Amino acid sequence: MTRKSHAIADRMALLDASGIRKVFDLAAKLTDPINLSIGQPDFDVPPAVKQAAIDAIRAGKNKYTQTQGTEELRADLAEACCKEFGWRDPYRGAVFGERGYLVTSGTSGALMLALLTLVNPGDEVVFMDPYFVMYAHLVNLCGGTCVLVSTYDDFRPDIDRLASAITDRTRLLIINSPSNPTGAVYTEGELRQIADVAARRDLLVVSDEIYNLFCYDFPYVSMVSVYDNTLLMRGFSKSYAMTGWRIGWCTGPAAILEKMTMLQQYSFVCAPSMAQEAARVAMHADMSAEVAAYKKKRDMVAEALGGSMGLVTPAGAFYAFCPAPGGDATAFVSKAIASNVLIIPGNVFSSRDTHFRLSYATSDDKLARGLEVLVKLAKG
Ligand code: PLP
Repeated sequence: MTRKSHAIADRMALLDASGIRKVFDLAAKLTDPINLSIGQPDFDVPPAVKQAAIDAIRAGKNKYTQTQGTEELRADLAEACCKEFGWRDPYRGAVFGERGYLVTSGTSGALMLALLTLVNPGDEVVFMDPYFVMYAHLVNLCGGTCVLVSTYDDFRPDIDRLASAITDRTRLLIINSPSNPTGAVYTEGELRQIADVAARRDLLVVSDEIYNLFCYDFPYVSMVSVYDNTLLMRGFSKSYAMTGWRIGWCTGPAAILEKMTMLQQYSFVCAPSMAQEAARVAMHADMSAEVAAYKKKRDMVAEALGGSMGLVTPAGAFYAFCPAPGGDATAFVSKAIASNVLIIPGNVFSSRDTHFRLSYATSDDKLARGLEVLVKLAKG
């Protein structure tokens, strides 16, 4: 019997992990599966970055830092923004006025602080379908309403659909390029069209760019370089394999960043001190070999699933979102798991269950074996 003192707050009923839990329950029964479900790189943290964290610990940098992040890291981030976005003043951006910076506990931390800071109960938050699951759960937790804009079947942003999803109640637009789970990367032209739609209503755009380094076919363009009223979020988890170090960052309008910082003070307090030191080194690490290896894996996936299964070639991140044979992702995923290959059904990331997500963040050998099984299963 549940004790009254252990009763759970109503808001927790808004969270649901049943889809992904079912997959992991099935997976737990497998011994040594070909795991194509993992959302983190299979390479390791660069040695210099590890050393920087060790040095920081040895040098006694083990205490709380300033809530907003160390001066040094924030200055480095501001300088990097100037370089990438052509800003002359890191604290003013292009046109928007005062800009702030906040170092967070992962990009997840930035997302949580931003949504708690910005979304009132009843507000609508617009994002593309398929989407990164955390968006829906955080919006729900804030009492907001998720408004999904379908990007099926090619995962390009449909500007008319986007424009008609925006109402007087829209508070925010979240975009995620390169995307989890589709691997779609928006072109500069598409970003400009999104910016036009947002500008008509002076909407703030949250741009989750955690996969920015993984862009294979053309130079990456950030939303913030075409639309100044952007809360830009990036992280170190994926680019430098630092998922366990819990460090990310955010820059945007100073008034919003100030409130997010206050909330961080009363929640996470600060990002891990040694990870902040290591992040300063990570920013300058050369990851081109790792990115080239992932491009090769992307090509393997596109070749195996492109023709036979109708996969739209993803241009970034390390995911492919592929039509499930027969249009029933859950059924196909069950078959794949029965054949020892772990993938995730689309309904975990979408209002539809017609596709499955495959992560190619694994060895070439495992990937090749996994793809072979999937293609064979699809042929029936
Ligand atoms: N955003 C997207 C699109 C992601 O896929 C993830 C992790 O999978 C995150 C944010 C959170 O990353 P972290 O909190 O590790 O920085």
